[in-house]
Amino acid sequence: MRLNETQLRQVDAQVKRLLSTDSYYGKIYREAGITGVSSVEEFEALPFSSKDDLRNAYPLGIQAVPDEEIVRIHSSSGTTGKPVIIPYTAKDVDDWATMFARCYETAGITKSDRIHITPGYGLWTAGIGFQLGCEKLGAMAIPMGPGNTDKQLQMMVDLKSTVLCATSSYALLLSEEIEQRGIKDQICLKKGVIGSERWSDKMRKNIKDRLGIELYDIYGLTEIYGPGIGINCTGETAMHYWDDFIYIEIIDPKTGKPVPDGEEGEIVITTLVKEGAPLLRFRTHDISRIVPEPCHCDRCKKYPRIDIIKGRSDDMFKVHGVNMFPSQVEELLSLVDGVSSEYNINIAHDDEKNRDVMLVTCEAEGRVNFEKTALRIKELFKSRIGVTPKITVVPVGTLPRSEKKTKRVIDHREL
Ligand SMILES: [Zn+2]
Repeated sequence: MRLNETQLRQVDAQVKRLLSTDSYYGKIYREAGITGVSSVEEFEALPFSSKDDLRNAYPLGIQAVPDEEIVRIHSSSGTTGKPVIIPYTAKDVDDWATMFARCYETAGITKSDRIHITPGYGLWTAGIGFQLGCEKLGAMAIPMGPGNTDKQLQMMVDLKSTVLCATSSYALLLSEEIEQRGIKDQICLKKGVIGSERWSDKMRKNIKDRLGIELYDIYGLTEIYGPGIGINCTGETAMHYWDDFIYIEIIDPKTGKPVPDGEEGEIVITTLVKEGAPLLRFRTHDISRIVPEPCHCDRCKKYPRIDIIKGRSDDMFKVHGVNMFPSQVEELLSLVDGVSSEYNINIAHDDEKNRDVMLVTCEAEGRVNFEKTALRIKELFKSRIGVTPKITVVPVGTLPRSEKKTKRVIDHREL
């Protein structure tokens, strides 16, 4: 899927505008001697942008318009260090709403629907994006936010919500509550729009069967507007994305070179018309592929598709909804007396309790008390990361060593 003429012109305009500013990327492009983009080759020679850039530019270094034009900011959760701040102009907000409304339409949602929105409202782009799209579409928004199951279900019943917007885990929780309380016949839900997480087929089937609804995956990230830049259509798993607002290339995460259509790689996104914080060739670390086969549906066949997100190209892992990195664990273990740098983490899902179980195995020298050491590590996990794993301490030398980089995290969950 190569850049077409219009997209190329749009990218060129973005680059020239950035060059005329003092923004973070304006400086980077000037220093790299970039003057514009007139061919696909020149586009592919542009440097990638990344979340690290956005952290370096914290708080507002990437802002590419005067303050008077910025109407709001959003921020992505910073599990490692500084958060990322994205400024939006009025047009950016409106474009986002247009894309999000298109997502709802692609899922067959109309003005007569009542959209029950459970993602959180605030600095992040979740709840407010679902709301914007809903209002743009002209449907009725029920802006619940997360939590308070009693209230959620009461509103769902009394207001006859027809669409549920939620994370997969929250949709699962609500579906279980509805089943347990025996109120399924009072629920009018027809569709679920699920965002922001990877979720297993098993989970999908659970939610679908319990609620008897169609499910849709919505794609997006705070750096690029937020959720709403793509969604699957009825009967398909691949997601359409809006190539009049964003350009997607799939690259080999190791070499940075584009891969042929249909081949898996990392999604790299270029915003074509964004004003407040344009991003060119932004590395998402999400793994997917372009789906070259045309879609069956008339409504959306003009929009290209990517496959469902397969995972992350980096090593982030998630337990109880908390993102974690091996580097955090290493740092934490280094604080405990007598503990070696070797460790491994096993993660599994307890289906009965419907929760993740995390087992950390690490090594300690014989001179320290293993029980106390385990307790100390557990406390550190709780206070520094916010999860409480099961800790096993074994004597130094027990865990396997390898010349190559050891695989630290063994994830047994069905992903
Ligand atoms: Zn389609």
